[in-house]
Amino acid sequence: MNLWQHYLRAGNVTEALQALSSAPGPACLIAGGTDLMLDLQQGRHAPLHTLVDITTIPEMTALEIRQGELYIGAAVPLSRIACSTLVLEHAQALVEACNLIGGPQVRNMATLGGNVAHALPAADGTIALMALDAEAEIADLERRRRVPLSDLFAGPGQSALRTGQELLVGFYISLRASHQSSAFKRFMRAQGIALPILNLSIWLERQADRIADVHVAVGPSGPTPRRITPVEDSLRGQIFRPAACFHALNVLLDNVHFRTSPYRASTEYRQQLVEVLLKDTLDIAWQRADF
Ligand SMILES: Cc1cc2nc3c(=O)[nH]c(=O)nc-3n(C[C@H](O)[C@H](O)[C@H](O)COP(=O)(O)OP(=O)(O)OC[C@H]3O[C@@H](n4cnc5c(N)ncnc54)[C@H](O)[C@@H]3O)c2cc1C
Repeated sequence: MNLWQHYLRAGNVTEALQALSSAPGPACLIAGGTDLMLDLQQGRHAPLHTLVDITTIPEMTALEIRQGELYIGAAVPLSRIACSTLVLEHAQALVEACNLIGGPQVRNMATLGGNVAHALPAADGTIALMALDAEAEIADLERRRRVPLSDLFAGPGQSALRTGQELLVGFYISLRASHQSSAFKRFMRAQGIALPILNLSIWLERQADRIADVHVAVGPSGPTPRRITPVEDSLRGQIFRPAACFHALNVLLDNVHFRTSPYRASTEYRQQLVEVLLKDTLDIAWQRADF
């Protein structure tokens, strides 16, 4: 059986959306195909009439400073983000996350938009974007809108985008100011074959010896990718010292229910790992924010 019948390479966003809505059978966007192809081949996704390829749409492959923000098109491959000095300067956590996803072949094909649209609670690029407080630009045939990343998820592996009517155009991230920084770390089995056992990303702003502001995202820590705001509240305004981290860890454990996964890790193992991840990532972000 054919997994799809028609493959169309869209030249712009409107063309992609029109192709989706006018297809005579089920249609789907395809970017790198690293998730979608496996889902089709392994029967988790029903066969499609039309695949709409978005990887050559210029505004979706742009990576640039746009009106005072860092803009990363949704179809930018992860390997390009991992090597970008611009992203390194303003969103180091995202560079670190993209460098850890899959192996080189996966990173050459996989896109940031696909990582977000697939909506897995521990997707590495997504967790880094959450900590960076990124916004997504969404397009349908009528309009464009910008939403916080957290609005994009409906459940595990379920995007909140309207199927066949909306697409992710790109992501906006605030430029890094002095004394701000970000970091991403994860635990995983052999790299290249699996999602992480646990990942954690932090953005922070430092003011002398205090944490002036902080964002903390942990995956998988619930049905959707998310920030752990009680942890942020417990750290904000605190003097950076071990006691603050210890308290934040307790708050984190009170606010997150780690699941036991037969393929990855038990609840107890994840609870142990998160202590190391939180401390290490906080330390790194703190040191980086020293200028
Ligand atoms: C061997 C292997 C290892 C992996 N390791 C990791 C890992 O360590 N960490 C990790 O996070 N992920 C990992 N992944 C998952 C995967 O590579 C990512 O989720 C990838 O970023 C998906 O992007 P893509 O461009 O390939 O998406 P595709 O497969 O093309 O699309 C995925 C879904 O998103 C939709 N979509 C794509 N782009 C858009 C858009 N712009 N707007 C709306 N919908 C869109 C598609 O319609 C489809 O439903 C791995 C995958 C493989 C095969």
